[in-house]
Amino acid sequence: MSKIHYTKPSIHDLEVKYATDAAKNGWGENCYQYILRFEEQFKKYLGVRYAIATSSCTGALHMGLSALGIQQGDEVILADINWIATVAPITYLGAKPVLVDIDPNNWCIDPAKVIEVITANTKAIIATHIYGNLCAMGELQAISEQYGIPIIEDAAEAVGSEYQSIKAGSLGTFGVFSFHGTKTVTTGEGGMFVTNDAKVYEKVLTLSNHGRATNQEKQFWPSMIGFKYKMSNIQAAIGCAQVERIEELVAKKRAVFYYYENKLSHIKEISMNEQSALTKCSYWMPTIVFAEQLNIDRDKLLTCFSQQNIDARLFFWPLSQLDMFEDKPDNVNAYSISKRSINLPSYHDITEPEMDRVCLIISSFLKNSKDVMAVR
Ligand SMILES: *Cc1c(COP(=O)(O)O)cnc(C)c1O
Repeated sequence: MSKIHYTKPSIHDLEVKYATDAAKNGWGENCYQYILRFEEQFKKYLGVRYAIATSSCTGALHMGLSALGIQQGDEVILADINWIATVAPITYLGAKPVLVDIDPNNWCIDPAKVIEVITANTKAIIATHIYGNLCAMGELQAISEQYGIPIIEDAAEAVGSEYQSIKAGSLGTFGVFSFHGTKTVTTGEGGMFVTNDAKVYEKVLTLSNHGRATNQEKQFWPSMIGFKYKMSNIQAAIGCAQVERIEELVAKKRAVFYYYENKLSHIKEISMNEQSALTKCSYWMPTIVFAEQLNIDRDKLLTCFSQQNIDARLFFWPLSQLDMFEDKPDNVNAYSISKRSINLPSYHDITEPEMDRVCLIISSFLKNSKDVMAVR
């Protein structure tokens, strides 16, 4: 039985052509050519004024938070369900992450819970569009205006997602993206910082250049301690090809989701990624949440997948369950949903027979567990 990976990039001749060109010719005075082109293309796609390519999304977020002046004693609010990369940069700056519960429908930060934890020290709210699902941006923007707290979008999982026809990542004070090998658009490793705010852009540009201001004429003269989170020209070359193909890449991810959704629609005890009248989801990870009353044995389910040579992925753990953070069992939705959810394999070129194999495991697993419940 062939292996079904949960994700892998879509690399065509175009990516190979550009990367080869960058490796052959992208040096000396050409050494920034693909980087600048990648930033231009990405800005155009997203509809933002400024973009800075980075070595990772983590680095982009670190610089952005730093540019907002976030430091020791400050608090940053984010959802308990998140990848570690979203919370880590807050701690790099000595600030305190405040982890709140998720909305059970979109699995993203719950705006009502945000209001409860705002203090005089709150300096930012991070809206992570988990698995491509959109945060409740309208409510978050209202909170932002009322309390004067910036919203930051972690759009690492949401390239191609939209809120009221506006692209995810372009709605907050700044947005960050990841081009890690598992993401919809990839450069191997890589990220992007985007904003419409000229001041924030200038600050991050200086920080990203080891603290050297763009108007500084003296050579080797940093005006502050900055960072080194730059993307290489070769990575950017791959990125240029990926952005030329971005509509295709996003469309393929959406098609994968719809195939699964259709095939699994007869199972009433599961729910999948939310797309509402206000949002368009790019479905980075097609995800299944099993109803609470099924009381599924997730480890058993994952064993069924591995026996069939298929990768399935766990839903993220609540960050507050990790040893580095204080437990927050009151985040009931985060704790409950995390235990009974999985991501399905979803690379762009997955075939229908492969997805059928995945669906078969889910339906037979549910049938068996129901039989077990009936016997009890
Ligand atoms: C992948 C991911 C990141 C981290 O991206 P890197 O490029 O690996 O730093 C951050 N946030 C979320 C939500 C992610 O899924």
